[in-house]
Amino acid sequence: MEPRFSCTACGKCCHGWLPLTLKDAVAHAGRFPLAMVWTPVRSNAKSYDLATRLGQTVRLPNRKTVAVLVQPTAYLPPSYPCPELRADNLCGIHADKPSRCRTMPFYPYRDEKDQADLLIPRKGWQCDVSAAAPVVYSNHAILDRADFDRERGELLEQAPVMRTYVDYILKYMPWTLNDLAKMAAKPTGGNLVTSLSSFLTATRRPDAKALAAAQAPLMHALAERTRNDPALVDYHRSYSGWAKEMDSLARRP
Ligand code: SF4
Ligand code: SF4
Repeated sequence: MEPRFSCTACGKCCHGWLPLTLKDAVAHAGRFPLAMVWTPVRSNAKSYDLATRLGQTVRLPNRKTVAVLVQPTAYLPPSYPCPELRADNLCGIHADKPSRCRTMPFYPYRDEKDQADLLIPRKGWQCDVSAAAPVVYSNHAILDRADFDRERGELLEQAPVMRTYVDYILKYMPWTLNDLAKMAAKPTGGNLVTSLSSFLTATRRPDAKALAAAQAPLMHALAERTRNDPALVDYHRSYSGWAKEMDSLARRP
């Protein structure tokens, strides 16, 4: 049976981490608190070859090779709604929303032929997959593919910058390699999170000061909002540290 899918605008997937293309992260820096999320992809994974094109190939201390994907991410706790999610569960920036939101539920970090399971709604999601919904995927191909192609194109375009960033972090924070090795060894994988400021420094972006000025108030607000929540201690620590880093970057002459 060919998979059918339609969004009913329940808003459930508009919570927590939202991976962005670099272009979208920069365009929405005044909206989303940004962090860099690293994912090691093992050489026996289905989309490994694609991951080597989108990320950096890294040799681990145990001599295994992984592809490392780094995603600029709107970094929110899973229980937090996207700041643009309206009370009626519609998107407040629909005409201007990031590529990731347009391509959902497809995911261009995976090969196109390996997307079928993404059309099965997660627990609590109210996506329509009934016979009334349109067929969206057939013979391992996405039928309406413009958004998928656009997001994939942006990811390929930014790949050299992400490689520069991975090389910089592994040079100046060499312990990161051991963290990646531990995650790659876990059956469930894992993520490593680094700051936007390290990315701005590594890639010497000319707009670093403006991006930091846009991020600083968001980080301060989230540090305050998460201050007294014992379940969000790690998020609070990150937001507090990143708020200081953004203040300092924004003040640089
Ligand atoms: S930008 Fe819009 S579509 Fe994307 S997560 Fe936020 S509310 Fe949802
Ligand atoms: S969970 Fe499904 S129905 Fe709800 S907003 Fe996301 S894509 Fe649409």
